[in-house]
Amino acid sequence: NKPVIAIVGRPNVGKSTLFNKLIGQRLSIVDDTPGVTRDRIYGEVEWLGKKAFIIDTGGIEPKSDDIILSQMRRQAQLAIDTANVIILVTDGKTGMVATDMDIAQMLMKSNKPIVLCVNKCDGIGEPTPEFYEFYNLGLGDPIQVSSVHGHGTGDLLDNVFEHL
Ligand code: GDP
Ligand code: MG
Repeated sequence: NKPVIAIVGRPNVGKSTLFNKLIGQRLSIVDDTPGVTRDRIYGEVEWLGKKAFIIDTGGIEPKSDDIILSQMRRQAQLAIDTANVIILVTDGKTGMVATDMDIAQMLMKSNKPIVLCVNKCDGIGEPTPEFYEFYNLGLGDPIQVSSVHGHGTGDLLDNVFEHL
């Protein structure tokens, strides 16, 4: 009866990199090709003595008719339905894009707690102008993370486990 955390977001924002960082093992496929993660992948994460399952998903493209992308969307929807809390991952290098807004709206329909992660914030110190764009999603304070370096993952987990 462990709670479930789902990692969702558009392709190539770094969901699998984050997943791997959080579980501390390389179980998920990380690739430069957008949408390379085709399958849901489960792991376990422990934070401050609490344990949860965590699910990595392929990217969601809510408005695509492509068969593979629509399968990935269905898998992501399954993960969302199963989740107790959702991490929406975005890309702090590219800034906010229309797909982020579509996904945010789709997630809000689930009425589940959503933690907004702005990944690829590799620099330390002041957030970039791109970071502030994500306030427009209406999901509260975004959390700066660099999944590659591991910066911000503690802050992210604090926020996630607050809902569990
Ligand atoms: P996914 O499609 O959302 O699962 O994205 P991946 O985890 O496969 O990562 C896509 C690309 O983004 C890879 O080249 C990663 O190395 C890169 N990436 C992921 N996290 C970060 C980060 O924190 N900083 C930077 N600079 N690149 C990252
Ligand atoms: Mg992936």
